[in-house]
Amino acid sequence: MSAASPHREQDSSAEEVLGEKPVRYIIQNLERTYGVPENKRASNPLDMLVKIILSQATSDTNSHRTFAALKKRFPTWDDALRARASTIAATIREGGLANQKAAVIKDLLKQIKREHGTLDVSSLHNLDVEEARKYLSQFRGIGPKTIACTLLFACRKEIFPLDTHIFRVLRRVGLIPQKCSDRRAHEIMDRIVPHGKFYSFHVNLIRHGRSLCRPREPLCERCPIVEYCDYGQTMI
Ligand code: SF4
Repeated sequence: MSAASPHREQDSSAEEVLGEKPVRYIIQNLERTYGVPENKRASNPLDMLVKIILSQATSDTNSHRTFAALKKRFPTWDDALRARASTIAATIREGGLANQKAAVIKDLLKQIKREHGTLDVSSLHNLDVEEARKYLSQFRGIGPKTIACTLLFACRKEIFPLDTHIFRVLRRVGLIPQKCSDRRAHEIMDRIVPHGKFYSFHVNLIRHGRSLCRPREPLCERCPIVEYCDYGQTMI
């Protein structure tokens, strides 16, 4: 069964799809079900960039473990910059894709050092969202999701990261078109999420995608947002 009506897939522009959707109600209902998560404090953006790189294609537990291993082996980012990529890879092996991730981390550290003369990107905290996004976009291997996660989690900026769970839920609900690039989806969500709700909506969509709106056989009969969901409306 299609995740949304053919009419929406073929004829609606993203703006038309979004204009019909009560985003605030969806956020509210998710908060009633999963709680109101709080993004408590700002943190080091470079630590967060590396954490997000390490989180790709692995579990949260493995990702936390590999970051801890990396910090233990290389107490400062200058230490990691001086190390061979193969040594970094050996340190993060447990998280998978170790060679690939090590190369991205090493390359990122090199680029930052070349640009600033220091491995400190805390000035990101002082930039507005667009300036910060533009700044991070210059680095090879750093895509829209990594940028958005870093700016939301470390800098507490109003920007919306999308992962596979979130893409699936949003497509089923109809908040983003079925065919939509990563970049376009990020742009749409940055525009429609209300002020102050970026973190809560992001976290709760992941919770929802893991618990009820699963990849196969979503539990629409128990869903708190079924009344706003294109897919759900075809199931009840
Ligand atoms: S109604 Fe079903 S498809 Fe729609 S968000 Fe809920 S669980 Fe997912």
